[in-house]
Amino acid sequence: MHLEHLFTDEQKALRDMIRKFVDKEVMPIREDLEKDYSLFEGLLQKLVDLGIQRGGVPSEYGGTGPYPMTTRGIIQTELARGDAGLAMVTGMNAGEFLGPALHAGNKVVLDRFAPATAGDKVCYGCLAMTDSAAGADTENPLFRGRGISTRAKLVGDEWVINGSKSWPTNAGLASLYLTVCNTDPDVGDEGIAIIYVPSDAPGLSFGKPETKMGFKTSVNASIFFDNVRVPKEYRLAGPGQDAAFYYGGIMGLGQWASACLSLGIAKGAFEIAMEYTKERKSGGKPVREWSMAAGILADMVWPICMIILKSMVRLSPRK
Ligand SMILES: Cc1cc2nc3c(=O)[nH]c(=O)nc-3n(C[C@H](O)[C@H](O)[C@H](O)COP(=O)(O)OP(=O)(O)OC[C@H]3O[C@@H](n4cnc5c(N)ncnc54)[C@H](O)[C@@H]3O)c2cc1C
Repeated sequence: MHLEHLFTDEQKALRDMIRKFVDKEVMPIREDLEKDYSLFEGLLQKLVDLGIQRGGVPSEYGGTGPYPMTTRGIIQTELARGDAGLAMVTGMNAGEFLGPALHAGNKVVLDRFAPATAGDKVCYGCLAMTDSAAGADTENPLFRGRGISTRAKLVGDEWVINGSKSWPTNAGLASLYLTVCNTDPDVGDEGIAIIYVPSDAPGLSFGKPETKMGFKTSVNASIFFDNVRVPKEYRLAGPGQDAAFYYGGIMGLGQWASACLSLGIAKGAFEIAMEYTKERKSGGKPVREWSMAAGILADMVWPICMIILKSMVRLSPRK
């Protein structure tokens, strides 16, 4: 709404397309999505058919190139208006996770994983970041990697990975795992290693999906790495550079996505409240025309503005 003037015509068209998709395909069945996962999978496939998945994939591999942040935000916000899980899972297709490899110029990773992400089938990705033992410490830059307990050791031409992660979205469903590891906790940021792990790597296993109070269409589960071996070229970039990608890009993407999800959920709730208070009459007029109700609706808009402001602050360059 207030950001309208920041969007290009292409972004406005994309937003309108997704909004129509949500109104037509998601809204009528959204209460059933948590009961019947096949309905949810059907929606994911329809989004692939609309070209959303291909949008995040490098152009030389059949996609239309990585999305600018604003475009990602539009997609996430509009989808979350209908179902937050749909926004989350769509934002975590495997193509999105190849962005860091593209920036790092890791051709081995791109050649191996990009073609499938530009295909006609849903291709999930997973950010395997939160260590079971460390939780929020895994993400804390002040810890300079000491909070990352999943270990990666170079043995010959392979990384051997051991450890476990808790809560990653799409764990067990994804075909590609962007895994946050540490090679040596004593060397600070230099020890942080971001490694691409395919789902068929021997030694990789998953826990049961977590039972959650809500947000149930996106799956969260533990991931176990038991001497998982991948080629050494599957490391994103190298010592120091991986930490820069982690703190400067990968974590920021997650924070941006969370802000956009929250914005979409809040927008959806606000629209329902506006509609209800228009239809519901009291004392001979719509409820929302009474000043107390109008004040409550205005109070609902304030947090939405705060989410937008906070996400802008989070995206501003780190000093
Ligand atoms: C729906 C959902 C989706 C998720 N998706 C992913 C995913 O895709 N990939 C992934 O890797 N992880 C994912 N996570 C995990 C998420 O990143 C972690 O839950 C988060 O990092 C916090 O870790 P924790 O739950 O272990 O909390 P803890 O580390 O146990 O922290 C609990 C609370 O303690 C307080 N606290 C902790 N440390 C500090 C501190 N230094 N200063 C002040 N207060 C502190 C905070 O209030 C914090 O909220 C997901 C979690 C959820 C719930």
